Amino acid sequence: MTHMAYIGLGSNLESPVQQLQQAVDRIASIPQSRLVAVSSYYGSTAVGPGEQPDYVNAAVLLETELDAHTLLDQLQSIEQLQGRMRGPVQWVPRTLDLDLLLYDHEQIQSERLSVPHPRMTERNFVLQPLLDLNPELCMPDGRSLSSLLNQLPQNGLWKL
Ligand code: ATP
Ligand code: CA
Ligand code: CA
Repeated sequence: MTHMAYIGLGSNLESPVQQLQQAVDRIASIPQSRLVAVSSYYGSTAVGPGEQPDYVNAAVLLETELDAHTLLDQLQSIEQLQGRMRGPVQWVPRTLDLDLLLYDHEQIQSERLSVPHPRMTERNFVLQPLLDLNPELCMPDGRSLSSLLNQLPQNGLWKL
């Protein structure tokens, strides 16, 4: 069965635009999958503790036969290939962050995976690229991404 997976990309270290381009190429090579579309690239101000370089963010739509956990394995191995350091601390600068944002209209809750991504609705740097891919996109509970984005501050995000 074919699934529609929306994946968020972010980088704020070591040539972020090139990191994202390389990641898009690698996502396009994930087995049993087809890269359908890539959003514009955006700059965004880092959120979280302390001073951090700005991020580059984007999103892609992947058609895939893989189940969600197998897809997460693939995304995490791409992060590793691109030098992602995994430490105990979240929200630190990174060469590549790949988040599985939406997987069909499924709601998934496991130790390794929460889908929809639990913080996506609060992040303009996630919602805007998703809306590039599909302006009609909705959360599994029916809320439209465009109305969610309209409720957020529009600062800290710019198109590259
Ligand atoms: P945030 O999740 O707030 O965007 P982050 O991306 O920096 O923060 P990570 O350190 O990349 O967080 O991921 C921590 C863990 O989150 C991963 O080990 C992974 O198992 C888990 N995880 C849960 N749901 C998802 C998802 N939808 N996509 C990617 N990883 C997820
Ligand atoms: Ca993330
Ligand atoms: Ca992540």
